[in-house]
Amino acid sequence: RKQIVKITTGSQALDELLGGGIETAALTEAFGEFRSGKTQLAHTLCVSTQLPISMHGGNGKVAYIDTEGTFRPDRIVPIAERFGMDAGAVLDNIIYARAYTYEHQYNLLLGLAAKMAEEPFRLLILDSVIALFRVDFTGRGELAERQQKLAQMLSRITKIAEEFNVAVYMTNQVIADPGGGVFITDPKKPAGGHVLAHASTVRMMLRKGKGEQRVAKIIDAPNLAEAEAIFQITPGGVTD
Ligand code: ATP
Ligand code: MG
Repeated sequence: RKQIVKITTGSQALDELLGGGIETAALTEAFGEFRSGKTQLAHTLCVSTQLPISMHGGNGKVAYIDTEGTFRPDRIVPIAERFGMDAGAVLDNIIYARAYTYEHQYNLLLGLAAKMAEEPFRLLILDSVIALFRVDFTGRGELAERQQKLAQMLSRITKIAEEFNVAVYMTNQVIADPGGGVFITDPKKPAGGHVLAHASTVRMMLRKGKGEQRVAKIIDAPNLAEAEAIFQITPGGVTD
């Protein structure tokens, strides 16, 4: 039987909010305004996933699909050091791919599934899961098709999570509404509609707090309290 593992975020407060950490065989979504820490958390998870289970890690490899070009290998180094790990070895266990279209993203997932059948992966990152859909389907008349393709992608991701007992960490954007001719982003409105809301096992909203502080809030999870956690972004990654 597959053992569900909960991978530490680097912050005890955030782990507690998540019921112990980022769970395998499940999809954890983080949405929030720019600089709220979505990508920084992804970098921290790249390292913490490789920690032994006894240290609240996942003892496995990481697959990183980057649609924004914001993955920074250099960032991994101080985070690995903070966790007492060898940065070179940690980097070797991160399989990285940049996706340029939603179809490319889908094909990368197929390739990764084949890899996961052979090697022990414990985390799949999609930063972001939706950006390419918003680029590739722009017209109003394309929304139904976009949602259909998004559902297909998410069902593939869910299958990977369950089949390989992998934790999925995916980031999402917030919606920009035209208000008086100016697009104003609503930091509380995740993109992706019902399709994404339905696919996410855990959905959390991130926002900026004071200084380097960030605030995470769980959004409509039946088995988790609607509480908040405060964490920090430091050179060593996410921490309390
Ligand atoms: P976007 O929507 O633009 O993708 P995001 O939610 O992914 O935003 P991040 O890139 O995760 O945002 O967060 C960026 C912030 O993280 C920076 O503004 C800074 O406050 C913090 N940060 C980044 N690197 C470091 C570091 N080395 N030390 C401390 N804080 C850092
Ligand atoms: Mg980002």
